[in-house]
Amino acid sequence: MFNSLSDRLTATFKNLRGRGRLSEADIDATVREIRRALLDADVAVPVVREFAAAVRERALGVEVSGALNPAQQVVKIVNEELVEILGGATRTLQLAKVPPTVIMLAGLQGAGKTTLAGKLAHALKQQGHTPVLVAADLQRPNAVTQLSVVAERAGVPVFAPHPGNQGAETDAVIGDPVGVARDGVAYAREKQHDVVIVDTAGRLGVDAVLMQQASDIRSAISPDEVLFVIDAMIGQDAVNTATAFLEGVDFTGVVLSKLDGDARGGAALSVAKVTGRPIMFASTGEKLTDFEVFHPDRMAGRILDMGDVLTLIEQAERAFDAEQAEKMAAKVAQGKDFTLADFLVQMQQMKKMGSMKKMLGMLPGMGQMREAIESFDEREVDRIEAIIHSMTPGERENPKIINGSRRARIARGAGTTTTAVNQLLERFDGAQKMMRQMSRGGGMPGMPPMPG
Ligand code: GDP
Repeated sequence: MFNSLSDRLTATFKNLRGRGRLSEADIDATVREIRRALLDADVAVPVVREFAAAVRERALGVEVSGALNPAQQVVKIVNEELVEILGGATRTLQLAKVPPTVIMLAGLQGAGKTTLAGKLAHALKQQGHTPVLVAADLQRPNAVTQLSVVAERAGVPVFAPHPGNQGAETDAVIGDPVGVARDGVAYAREKQHDVVIVDTAGRLGVDAVLMQQASDIRSAISPDEVLFVIDAMIGQDAVNTATAFLEGVDFTGVVLSKLDGDARGGAALSVAKVTGRPIMFASTGEKLTDFEVFHPDRMAGRILDMGDVLTLIEQAERAFDAEQAEKMAAKVAQGKDFTLADFLVQMQQMKKMGSMKKMLGMLPGMGQMREAIESFDEREVDRIEAIIHSMTPGERENPKIINGSRRARIARGAGTTTTAVNQLLERFDGAQKMMRQMSRGGGMPGMPPMPG
């Protein structure tokens, strides 16, 4: 996501590098490029206009600063304005003072509501809540069944008194979704679930019956949060759809789904600004864990290829074995050598964190390495593991002793070639050097390459 926008913006900033001072003409040319890049990314025209004007005005007023060169100052301004249109501060779920917190999901059919219900429930459960899902989408074929499947996967109960539409596309309203929603909330209260997530029906396009139904459900259950789920891939339509839901149902927050896709990102960059409602979550895949709290500042950082190190760290924290991590940090701090055994542990922990591709994409400066990332073979980790497993403990501690015959033996043991073993040893040598540099206080190699 945002790849081409990100590339375009980075290229624009590159043109500014090395300039001592920016003339008005330089700034105008830059703003023009930014405007084109945003329009091509499907950002809504009024949003682009306002954004470009704000960047231009601030860039013209920039004072010469000791800390940042002019190009860096422009990047800083663009970054701040991006954060602003993405909604400013991070907004988290508002929990009710008296449980249950009622969360209603609304949006077009196929937007990703049902999938989101599972993800949200899963995340809340991990935080110690006891969510229940309510199947009030009786309209979409098999929606109730799908919600039950999702609930089971998330390990949470589902309230589904009506089987809903079991196959046919129909325009006739099925059952009493308002009643189901109301009973679902009552059920949650009675069974002492502290959060209740109500899935509602959506049609393929905005339609009056659907809007009325969602609005009636809203009135019946007075939700603490109404989350409008929108498919990030729908491009320019995002603004119209969002405005229709804002007027028809109103919502307290936005969830962008399918951010993993090849979307140009315009929806993300338009919806918060146009509706005045914050983007609260991002859905990034079909798995239960492909779900993140949306941080405007981090997203802006990703767009500007400044990396999203914070999200990466959070994911790492969730997956990492704290004890192991501490041991590793202590080792690095003491200037002790990082061994192949440590490397293996790190690899295994990385695997726990999920897809390497996704992780690499969050590192700063990775924009230029996109092709390499795309072609990254996840099975590589397994191959590396096999090679290290095939070494003796002594070899893992001190790879220098791995001579030609040992290499051949390791390759045989791992079912691979000597070349693969050589490659791993070379890479490890690089990693070891990097760790040494870090322990000497050389800072993180590869910190965000600020243009300039
Ligand atoms: P609903 O009609 O709004 O309930 O939409 P669903 O939750 O059924 O989602 C529609 C389709 O989009 C399903 O095939 C989902 O698996 C898929 N989907 C939902 N969220 C995501 C996402 O974040 N990324 C991707 N790639 N697919 C998603």
